[in-house]
Amino acid sequence: MTPDVRPLVAGNWKMNGLKASLAEIAAMRKAVDAGEAGAAELAVIPPFTLIALAAEKLAGGSVTWGGQDCSPQAGGAYTGDTSAAMLKDLGATYAIVGHSERRTIHHETDSEVRAKAEAAIKAGLKAIVCVGETRAERETGLEYAVVTRQVRESLPPDGGPDTVVVAYEPVWAIGTGLTPTPADVAKMHDSIRRLLGEIYGANGAKVRILYGGSVKPSNAKELLGIDHVDGALVGGASLKAADFLAIAAAYR
Ligand code: PEP
Repeated sequence: MTPDVRPLVAGNWKMNGLKASLAEIAAMRKAVDAGEAGAAELAVIPPFTLIALAAEKLAGGSVTWGGQDCSPQAGGAYTGDTSAAMLKDLGATYAIVGHSERRTIHHETDSEVRAKAEAAIKAGLKAIVCVGETRAERETGLEYAVVTRQVRESLPPDGGPDTVVVAYEPVWAIGTGLTPTPADVAKMHDSIRRLLGEIYGANGAKVRILYGGSVKPSNAKELLGIDHVDGALVGGASLKAADFLAIAAAYR
């Protein structure tokens, strides 16, 4: 944790969830609004098809929400894409950009990720910018070089604590049940914190750095208690309110 920084526990639903899943979102809201979810901010990032319906369920409550991606473009002939302004129009707070699944499957580059983050901020959203090394990169000792490059080249230089969240997600830990050791997480988050200082000066100290990759109720307390871990980006374990709330309970 970082002193004076409110942690964020964000649930990335990926391409999961049908209308029936809105009951899980309603249960999250109920617990948060009843003050039962602990000190962290909870955000849910559903698939695009559920966003407008989730927005209705969450309106007026304390659970924030966002999109899993946004276009770098403001609008126009971009079939299948969603602009940051469209998300903002529905009341979104966040857009995830540069998730490893988009970097890998859709070949998104650091400069595209940065353009998306800039578009998100311009529309009044906060960008959750994902970085993280692959298994091969870690095995060949390249994890710091890769994450340093991603942080330097994907983050908008004009951002800061109110507009940017960094999510460190080792690709080999996403959806695998594997996690780095707490010492490895601490070392990488410390390195990212120093890079944020280079980019944002004193403001870099307050930018939230989330850990993501197989966070679940059984390991949340240990992972979220590490220095410079200011919350979690949670995939699989965010689909059920009970699991997601059990992770957030690390901040009780
Ligand atoms: C993710 O998709 O960002 C993620 C961290 O997934 P999981 O928690 O399932 O590893």
